[in-house]
Amino acid sequence: IARTLKRPATAASAAYSTGGCTCTSKKLEGKVALITGGASGLGKATAAEFLRHGARVVIADLDAESGIKAAKELGPAAEFVRCDVTVEADVAGAVEMTVAKHGKLDVMYNNAGIVGPISPPSISELDMTEFEKVMRINVIAVVSGIKHAAKVMIPAGSGCILCTSSIAGVLGGFAPHSYTISKFTIPGIVKSAASELCEHGVRINCISPATVATPLTLRYLRKVFPKVTDEKLRETVKGMGELKRAECEEADVAKAALYLASSDGKYVSGHNLIVDGGMTAFKINGF
Ligand code: NAD
Repeated sequence: IARTLKRPATAASAAYSTGGCTCTSKKLEGKVALITGGASGLGKATAAEFLRHGARVVIADLDAESGIKAAKELGPAAEFVRCDVTVEADVAGAVEMTVAKHGKLDVMYNNAGIVGPISPPSISELDMTEFEKVMRINVIAVVSGIKHAAKVMIPAGSGCILCTSSIAGVLGGFAPHSYTISKFTIPGIVKSAASELCEHGVRINCISPATVATPLTLRYLRKVFPKVTDEKLRETVKGMGELKRAECEEADVAKAALYLASSDGKYVSGHNLIVDGGMTAFKINGF
């Protein structure tokens, strides 16, 4: 018999089994979320969306200055914990702190990531030290985040884990080799974890966003096009969208995360939600 998502019966996890929050616009009321890389870009936008929907949010980030500033900006239900996701003890510590303070962890979002250096055009020239660095943040740290969230969520019999892949994990040749390889692994990690966690009432999914003009994207584009102004680079990103509207925005990704994290997505697990306005459906490779 194939394993499938156990519908939790406990009161604590009832919202996941009943869709009980549909009567209110606050889809994460009473929930506690931990977001890595939440000090900037997509993580920060998702933190804001979760907070709007009633969650308490812990931002875990390497950049303490931006993290403290973001938590202050986002309001009293947001807080910051310094965490280098490549250090397993930091990840374990962030989860422990969250549970000690809030009594539980409902949503773990393994979102922190880097592009890394611009790869040489040929994989035959790949700098293995740089490759390992990208893999440590974009892949190994994601597994570590899943591990430590699962330690708490399995006994609780409920929970939702999210990870960030990318359309660079759907299309080869869209981004440097190291980033592409790292992002292709995420849906596989999610499938593997989902196959076990479903029995415990824990869901896990990933989101694959198209290019959004976050600090990460601009840092990368500045390296590729050093002579082009930020304004022009933002225009370039806008031109990438396939839908007849502007580029993929932070809010598009945050709302996808909200869907997956809330009871609206209560029977979705092991899924890779591509948020790209149809780009990867329309183009075979590149754009
Ligand atoms: P960003 O640079 O704006 O934010 C990333 C955050 O992660 C920063 O606050 C940074 O301090 C933090 N971080 C980096 N290394 C860390 C570490 N070792 N430990 C803890 N925190 C660390 O980037 P973003 O665009 O918001 O990207 C977020 C995620 O989305 C990444 O995984 C990225 O690969 C992915 N993604 C981004 C885009 C895009 O176009 N922006 C598209 C697809 C996927």
